[in-house]
Amino acid sequence: MRQNTMYQKPKTNTDSCPVAGKCGGCRWIGKPYEEQLRSKETIFRKLMEPYCKPEHIIGMEQPTHYRNKVHAVFGEDRKHNAISGIYEEKSHRIVPVDSCLIENRKADEIIVSIRGLLKSFKIRPYNEDTGYGLLRHVLIRTGHVTGQIMVVLVLSSPIMPSKNNFVKALLKLHPEITTVVINVNDRNTSMVLGDREQVIYGKGYIEDELCGKTFRISPKSFYQVNPVQTEKLYNKAMEYAGLTGSEVVVDAYCGTGTIGMIASDKAGRVIGVELNPDAVRDARSNAKRNGVNNIEFYQNDAGKFLVEMAQQDAKVDVVLMDPPRSGSSEEFLNSVARLAPKRVVYISCNPETLVRDLKYLTQKGYTVEKGVAVDMFPFTDSCEAVVRLIRTGK
Ligand code: SAH
Repeated sequence: MRQNTMYQKPKTNTDSCPVAGKCGGCRWIGKPYEEQLRSKETIFRKLMEPYCKPEHIIGMEQPTHYRNKVHAVFGEDRKHNAISGIYEEKSHRIVPVDSCLIENRKADEIIVSIRGLLKSFKIRPYNEDTGYGLLRHVLIRTGHVTGQIMVVLVLSSPIMPSKNNFVKALLKLHPEITTVVINVNDRNTSMVLGDREQVIYGKGYIEDELCGKTFRISPKSFYQVNPVQTEKLYNKAMEYAGLTGSEVVVDAYCGTGTIGMIASDKAGRVIGVELNPDAVRDARSNAKRNGVNNIEFYQNDAGKFLVEMAQQDAKVDVVLMDPPRSGSSEEFLNSVARLAPKRVVYISCNPETLVRDLKYLTQKGYTVEKGVAVDMFPFTDSCEAVVRLIRTGK
């Protein structure tokens, strides 16, 4: 479906964002959205040429302000006024930003409010060069369906003077905030979040819904940043999986288990595998939260895990896979071929590694039947895609 009727296109980069040149986040900011979609569709169609003719790209109706996770770095200007914004591309200079074309509007407003409160609470932003100051970053995560909002204050020290009054003042300005967490990052690192956390208001996490299931989002949880498009992507993946209620499904590279949980209603049994132990913990608690009983999660390398399954001659009907940008491994793909599921649904955030892996699978008895690009990141050149393969070899 071709969309995008309401969005007013910007004429030039600086029309739509004064810091576009320094930020580097939205490489395609000067390109009308229709054109962006056409470009992504063309790139994907070309890459898929040896395999199939993809469906039309799935774009956004309103391609702006989609990011549910917003990060601002705090610092001081020469006159010691607090500033907040982004790091200039490939540097540690802070470019002040108050609002961004792709970020959640409310999150941007909260960041500006926090900056405005600092002076009266005598909170100084952290200075990377001198090591003085307290507030390093603010991270805001929002629940698209639930409307819940989490504010994470990343501090250089665990002691925040008059934190309760600070929270009170912030809530007065933004009563929609549902939780506030202090995260302590006292190391000299480019990682935003440190290891220690202290919940100072609310539950310490938010929840959001995707395809009718509820997911818990903690400060560090992985969660797709464009919830509107994620639903479309997962619905497509479910359509391609063609589940009838009895299948054994593997959800490989499952993260916090979102795809597998959505598949669980229409499957006999779902087996999720994921390398990151925190994500596996979140996945298990998400399953419990939703009362899903036919899903198990394993913390392991997806390749190693599948080799073991193949050695045990496990029965698998459908493999859903969503590997990182680097794609999958030969070990994994080889084991898929040995397990011989009837269908493989490959979700990819990097079409280049996708086609590399498709080449391998098509030499091992699989045929690419269909595929589609889904625009998860408007105004950037990233392209997400989902492909359906069916077993045609013996
Ligand atoms: N399917 C999830 C997450 C996809 S991101 C979702 O849509 O939310 C890719 C995931 O692969 C990440 O969670 C990452 O931790 C995991 N991962 C990376 N390498 C892996 C490997 N070798 N084995 C298993 N999981 C891996």
